[in-house]
Amino acid sequence: RAAVSKLTTGSKAFDELLGGGLESQSITEFFGEFGSCKTQVCFQLAVNATLPEEKGGLDSDVIIIDTENTFRPERITQMCNYLGVDPDETLKRIHIARAFNSQHQVLLVDKALELAKDIKVRLMIVDSLTSHFRSEYLGRGALAERQQILNRHMHDLLNFATVNNAVIAVTNQVASKPDAFFGDPTRPIGGHVVGHTATFRIYLRKGKAGKRIARLIDSPNMPEGEAVFMVTENGITD
Ligand code: ATP
Ligand code: MG
Repeated sequence: RAAVSKLTTGSKAFDELLGGGLESQSITEFFGEFGSCKTQVCFQLAVNATLPEEKGGLDSDVIIIDTENTFRPERITQMCNYLGVDPDETLKRIHIARAFNSQHQVLLVDKALELAKDIKVRLMIVDSLTSHFRSEYLGRGALAERQQILNRHMHDLLNFATVNNAVIAVTNQVASKPDAFFGDPTRPIGGHVVGHTATFRIYLRKGKAGKRIARLIDSPNMPEGEAVFMVTENGITD
């Protein structure tokens, strides 16, 4: 079994919270309200993964399964410019797969496994993990089936992580107000099934003056805690 690698978030404080960065061979879940910068963190991870290992990267290509059509190449370009790396070369290494529905999303993981036989892919992002599932499986009657498929999807992702010694980052929106179906607003959609398969779970929220706060929850080997980071034109920084 290959040694676990760590992928930098771009913020020292955030990396330290995670024990050096996002770990390969596991799934890291970012959950939070709209605008809590889940997607921004994903963009930064995508750029960082293309960096050499001595710079906290994985020297690899990236697959992004984009379920909400939120990928913005010009944002990647901004982040590359700050880091002094070629935006076009970086964008060539970031492969975007639009998922049109939950079934398609599940299928794209199989396609990713195929692609990873030909090119080195050590970061896969699913942004958002739960949006299609949330809109397609409505009401309590659909809950069991939704959880079952989501559970299998998570295991497929974990398999990709193991086979490719890859980092998996997924996002999960939480409601800003408690609602009848999901209850506690800090409880991520997908509930326990997603929670138990993800190795690292990070709750993101807005702080003051453009700051963002990351809270590590339920880590197997790190204490719970918080880190403050910035999201600016340059990307994710301290
Ligand atoms: P959702 O749940 O709706 O997908 P999210 O958690 O993915 O939300 P993001 O889209 O990552 O949220 O965050 C949007 C925020 O990122 C903006 O409100 C802004 O504060 C910040 N942001 C985006 N682009 C820039 C930029 N170029 N410079 C500075 N901040 C930016
Ligand atoms: Mg988003």
